[in-house]
This record gives sequence, structure tokens and C-alpha cells, in this order.
Amino acid sequence: GASIRIGIAGYGNLGRGVQAAIAKNPDMELVGVYTRRDPSAVVLQGPAPVFHMDDLAKHTGDIDVLILCGGSKSDLPEQGPALSASFNTVDSFDTHAMIPEYFAAVDAPATAAGKTALVSAGWDPGMFSINRVYGEALLPDGETYTFWGRGLSQGHSDAIRRVPGVAGGVQYTIPNPTAIEKVRAGERPVLGTREKHVRDCFVVLEDGADADAVREAIVTMEHYFDAYDTTVNFIDAATLAAEHTAMPHGGFVFRSGNTTDEHAQVIEYSLTLESNPEFTSSVLVAYARAVHRMNAAGQVGAKTVFDVAPGLLSPKSPEQLRAELL
Ligand code: NDP
Repeated sequence: GASIRIGIAGYGNLGRGVQAAIAKNPDMELVGVYTRRDPSAVVLQGPAPVFHMDDLAKHTGDIDVLILCGGSKSDLPEQGPALSASFNTVDSFDTHAMIPEYFAAVDAPATAAGKTALVSAGWDPGMFSINRVYGEALLPDGETYTFWGRGLSQGHSDAIRRVPGVAGGVQYTIPNPTAIEKVRAGERPVLGTREKHVRDCFVVLEDGADADAVREAIVTMEHYFDAYDTTVNFIDAATLAAEHTAMPHGGFVFRSGNTTDEHAQVIEYSLTLESNPEFTSSVLVAYARAVHRMNAAGQVGAKTVFDVAPGLLSPKSPEQLRAELL
């Protein structure tokens, strides 16, 4: 059949990742990148038509699914409800506590317009959420554990850069291997914050800054570091630029449960990602295929990953899936 026509709304890390993912999916076609900036000023990583976001209103008939690549903090709360009134959409809204409110804000315009809006896809929320649901449903007598990392935390990296005397730096969240081994062994441990993750910082000092004072300011920082065991490594600017610009991430979702007193069962799902945004974007593109099909089947309004049957993500037909993957 005809390829699925995809638009990208917002061109940052995820926007670039969606462009790369479309190139890996022959049933999809990128019809336009839309940006709030001057389109001629946006540096593309590959050829694509670029338009101003305002032009979207003129292109409603050209786009089957619009993938929203704006930030969760201030872009999506505006763009999600506005754009789902005119387009089928997929987004990666990841402010967990706000998801019910965001879902409702997108559901009303999408339903009224007969559009399908998949909110909060990606890996967490997203693939990790699906694995938490499977775990709870299959092993009702059990515990769910989510560990993140080793991964770069943007929020914690920003926090260390604000410490006086710091010229630059990054922070990695690392899951505690001892805790993971206990969970994997079916022990169902009760784990506090300090036992689940450690934090590893790589910091470039300003000239003349006091390393001990900087270290102390970081490890005692409320909300960010005080509840964790934190290591601070001092490096030079060249090392920071050479070794710490990638955006790796990943983690684990475990369900450890008992089917009888005699038998423990452990489910483990893990991700090891060299690029968090490129993987997230790959998930968004697979969900765009599902959204296109769900809209054609009359399933409109806001949806989450819990509402999407797995076969809808695949380019293969149901017949092919039954023959090859069941
Ligand atoms: P970016 O900051 O790279 O991009 C966000 C927006 O900022 C873009 O849509 C773009 O909008 C604008 N922008 C990008 N680059 C520039 C620039 N150089 N100058 C000015 N504006 C720029 O964010 P990410 O793509 O890394 O992440 C987007 C969101 O994805 C995150 O907020 C996070 O919440 C979510 N996420 C979700 C995950 C999940 O598992 N669910 C995992 C990872 C991320 P415009 O083109 O209109 O200017």
C-alpha cells in the first residue's frame, strides 16, 4: 500500500532521531520537518523539506501522523492539545506525575476531531510501562523493580553546572549491581533510594576553584544528591568534550513474584542504549504506524501504550506475524 506520511513537529534530539528511524522503515515517508525557529536556520542531519510550525495548518491533508518531538516541560503541554485537534499524533511526554492531566488535555480535542493521539510513548514511560503492566498482571503476588542507567541525567548534569567553581560537567545514574543481583535471584528485597542507584559526576573546575568545596557542594545538594552515594571525578575540558558528549541510557524492569510458596518466578526486561534519543525516536515511529491503523479503524481520542495491541506496531500483516513470530 501507500507509505505512511509522517511529519516531525520540533527538531531537536528526538526530531533528528525520528528522521533517522523513518529511514529504517520502508513503509514510512518523511513529508516535513516543522519548527518554531526560522526554517532556513535549522541544520538538518539529512535532506527533508523544512517548514515553519505555522504552516502545519495548511498541511493537514498531507500528513497521516505528526510525531511531536518537543520537550515535556513546556512544549508538549501546549503543542499536544493544540495539534491533536488537527492531526493524528504520537509524543513522548515523560513527566510521570502529570500524565493523567496531559492525557485529558489531549483526549478532548482529539476525540472531537476524530483524531488518534498516542501520548507518553518512548522507553520510560513507554516500553518500561508495558513491562510493568505485564509483570503485575502475570505475577499478582510479587514486586516490581525499575532501575535506570547507566545513563546521562540531563537534570542532574544541569544541577552540577550551577555549582560555583564548576566550568562544566555531566552526571551518570548507575544502578547498584548488588541490588540488581538480589532482585534477579528472586529475593524480593526492600530497597531504599541509596541502595538502588549511585551517582557518578565528571566535573571540570574553573581556574582556581577549590576541588574539595565543589565536591562537598555537589554531594550534599538537596533533592539531587544528598539521598545518594555520589562520586565526583575531576577531569579537564578536553576529556569532557572527548568522552562525555554521547547520551547513553538504559535500565531494567523486573517483576519478582511467587506462583506458589514453593516457586519464585522472575521476569527481566533490560535496555542498553548508546543513544537515548535515537532509541526513543525509534519507539515513536513504530507507534506512529499503530496510530495510523487505529485511526483508520475508528479508534479515536487519546491513547497510551497500554491501549495498543503489539501486532499494530509491526509492518508485517497479522497473517505474517502468526506464521513467523508466534
Ligand atoms: P531538545 O531540547 O533537543 O528539543 C526540544 C525542542 O527544542 C525541539 O522540538 C526544538 O523545537 C527545540 N530546539 C532543539 N534544538 C534547538 C536549538 N538548537 N535552538 C533552539 N531550539 C531548539 O529535546 P529532546 O529532543 O532531547 O527531548 C524532547 C523530550 O523527549 C524531552 O523533554 C523528554 O521529556 C522526552 N523524552 C522522553 C523519553 C521517554 O522515554 N518517554 C526519553 C527521552 C526523552 P523547534 O524546532 O520548534 O525550535
